[in-house]
Amino acid sequence: MRIIRSATAMTAWSRKLQREGVVIGLVPTMGALHDGHRSLIRKARLSCDAVVVSLFVNPAQFGPKEDFARYPRPFKADAALCREEGVDVLFAPSHEAVYPPGFQTTVSAGALARRWEGARRPGHFDGVATVVAKLFGLVTPQVAFFGQKDFQQSVLVQRLVEDLNLGVRVVVCPTVRGEDGLALSSRNRYLTPAQRRSAPVLHEALQAGRTAILRGIRFGAQIDRAMQKVIQTDPKLRLDYLAVCDPETLEPLPRVTKTAVLLGAVRLGRLRLIDNLIVRLGGK
Ligand code: AMP
Repeated sequence: MRIIRSATAMTAWSRKLQREGVVIGLVPTMGALHDGHRSLIRKARLSCDAVVVSLFVNPAQFGPKEDFARYPRPFKADAALCREEGVDVLFAPSHEAVYPPGFQTTVSAGALARRWEGARRPGHFDGVATVVAKLFGLVTPQVAFFGQKDFQQSVLVQRLVEDLNLGVRVVVCPTVRGEDGLALSSRNRYLTPAQRRSAPVLHEALQAGRTAILRGIRFGAQIDRAMQKVIQTDPKLRLDYLAVCDPETLEPLPRVTKTAVLLGAVRLGRLRLIDNLIVRLGGK
């Protein structure tokens, strides 16, 4: 496995492979890799000739009061996981490689970026869209792999690719969970044992929403209440939002008549947890 840190080396590697007709798959990450990331890498390995994992903790997607400085950076363990999974290139650029002196052009995400996570984290999705566009420019993958775990991000990236004609196929991979249902996340390591016991309640709430829909409840407000009741069973959790939404526009659905996505976020101590479930009517 090659570890590449500079923009010029990354571009030289990918342009050479492109000329040889190699299909490059990119898995963008912020590191602190876990089995969720691993599932994306495996999917890329199966469908592409060469796999690039990018590892960049992008300051532009953190708010001033967020945990950029404290974000975990276990580089050796990350490199070991990538090696184990047969990754061809670990692209771990320096800050200057991504944002060189004079950098000033950014991507402004649209209405999708203003709801839910975007409303709580102003500028977050502009930061995500900008870095994804940069990574696509540097790595020039034909395919890029994202997790459903960050549902809003995955919808936004698909929009970005379409709106700016970036010519990358976006594959969204299912959320990998612990045995108790908690979605794996790099920040879970900061949960205390007691918080860790409370954390799966978010998934349980979303499941209650799904059960309500599958039992024939169609009004968004009623489904919201079914989910909220579950969050209220645990005083450690502070509800941020729970909503039944259209999976493309992310607008709340007053009535569920087709596939819906249940989006949820809670606060647990200093951490925020997000999760989601897709509910297909008439399907699985
Ligand atoms: P991050 O390192 O948190 O920026 O995540 C990098 C990619 O991994 C994103 O596309 C995430 O959606 C995805 N991801 C994170 N956690 C999971 C998970 N539990 N299951 C599947 N994909 C995940």
